[in-house]
Order: sequence, then C-alpha cells, then structure tokens
Amino acid sequence: MDLGIAGKKAVVCASSKGLGRGCAEALAGAGVSLVLNARGAEALEATAEEIAAAHGVEVVPVAADITTEAGRAKVLEAAGAADILVNNAGGPPPGMWYDWEREDFIKALDANMLAPIAMMKALLPGMMERGWGRVVNITSVSVKAPIGVLGLSNSARAGLTGYVAGTARQVAGSGVTINNLLPGIHATDRAVALDGNAAKAQGLTPEEVRAARCDTIPAGRYGTADEFGAACAFLCSRHSGFIVGQNILLDGGAANISM
Ligand code: NAP
Repeated sequence: MDLGIAGKKAVVCASSKGLGRGCAEALAGAGVSLVLNARGAEALEATAEEIAAAHGVEVVPVAADITTEAGRAKVLEAAGAADILVNNAGGPPPGMWYDWEREDFIKALDANMLAPIAMMKALLPGMMERGWGRVVNITSVSVKAPIGVLGLSNSARAGLTGYVAGTARQVAGSGVTINNLLPGIHATDRAVALDGNAAKAQGLTPEEVRAARCDTIPAGRYGTADEFGAACAFLCSRHSGFIVGQNILLDGGAANISM
C-alpha cells in the first residue's frame, strides 16, 4: 500500500533503537525525511546513517535529552515545519508503591507526559495552519491494563492519555490527527532490562522469565520493533485521517480487553 506521505518530514523522538527506531525505519521506508533524536550521539549517528542509506531519505540526528526544555529546543530547531511527530522517551524504572518520592514522579511526568505535551504544543499550530499533520504518541499497555511494578509509568501515561483525549478532538477539524500506540511486551533493550530485573527478583534466568511471559501472550511471542513501526507509519499515512484520539493496543492479545 502506498502510504501517500513520501516527501513529508517527521520528527521521531527517542529513536536510536527500539520502538522509536522501528517507527523511524517504517516512515523512511514510506519516503519520509526524518529528524531523529536520542541522548547518546554515537548510536544515534550510526542509526541515522543506516536509515538514510537503506531508504534514500534525508535523516538529521539531534543528540539531546527530550525530557529537558533545552533538548526539545534543539530538536524543534531541526524539525522546522514538520508534518509528523512521533513522541517517545525512555520508560520509568519499576518499583513498589512506597519507593517513590515527589522527585521520582516529577521525573516520570517530565519524560512520559510533559515532554510529549510540549512537543505537541510546539508543532501542532504549524500542522493546523497547513491543514495536515499526524502525531503518534508511544505510550504503553499500562494505559489499559496497569502493570503492578510500573506505578510511575502507569501514572504518567494516564496523564498523557487524558490530555490527548481532549486535544485530538480539538485539532481534528484542521486535518491533524493524534493517536496513541500502546505497546505490550516487545523485544527491545527495555524488555531485556525488565526481564533481567524480574529474573533477579524471582531467582530465575532471564530466559525463564521470557518463556513464562510468552506463555501469557496469546500470540506466543514478543512483538517486534518492525511491526510496531509499520502500525505507526499507517497512523501517519494519508489513509488514517478518520482515526482520531485512539489508544491502539499492540500486545499479541495479552491484555484481555475487548472494548
Ligand atoms: P529502548 O529499546 O530502551 O530504546 C529507548 C530509546 O529512547 C533509545 O534510542 C534511547 O537512546 C532513547 N531515549 C531514552 N531516553 C531518552 C531521552 N530522555 N531523550 C531522548 N532519547 C531518549 O526502549 P523501547 O523498548 O523502545 O521503549 C520505548 C518506550 O516504549 C518506553 O517509554 C517504554 O517504557 C515503552 N514501552 C516499551 C515496551 C517494550 O516491551 N519494549 C512495552 C511497553 C512500553 P539514549 O539512551 O541514547 O537516549
């Protein structure tokens, strides 16, 4: 299917690897030029070179912490009049309800709620003026099925989801759509780290933890960054203009939610 977005420009936050990279790859495959972002410059530049070589599109890497105002200013300067925004950042650490103080919550809110809101506030006016735009926020399955040990993530993502619910409906009339993609477990470094933590806590190997987790997923496996990226690219396509303010779960059927 021709996604109809060749020649457009996208900003993909937190995209040197994992799900962000999957989205960047799929958009580049549809002919979209990219501004890529991550904190670590070396991995980011390598990813940018690989994507540019594979897809023949312009890819500008911006090494910056997207959770800070200064980092976002650098990304936004490179973004210019971007047509597509994919919001993403690292996820907060796991823990128990009594582990976290105000500062921990502020950090999680900065990363997984306030940073994407700031990016939207900066780029939506231009998209609306031009009459076309796409925003995809990478959130989490925890929005629909909160995860016990991820209280910080559950809290911050719920806040972003609430903001998007209203905002998506306020901007849809200008040709701009905002939707959230909710990953269940995907085979990225983040998943490896979470499996490692669970293994330590349960006295198991990471492989045992992974196998047990796969047993809880009807699809019988972890998701891939490629298939996640393809879903993102579709939401950014010209075919998705009637999909507004949705929370779309990609979890292999793990959360037993039918509505
Ligand atoms: P990942 O493989 O660890 O990749 C994270 C990417 O984000 C890296 O490129 C990293 O590069 C960049 N990054 C992290 N913090 C950043 C910051 N402050 N500013 C700019 N870039 C930053 O993670 P992932 O698995 O793709 O996860 C992406 C998001 O989806 C996370 O919020 C995660 O919680 C959520 N999620 C993932 C899963 C899963 O199974 N993978 C499930 C549910 C939710 P640098 O470190 O160099 O900055």
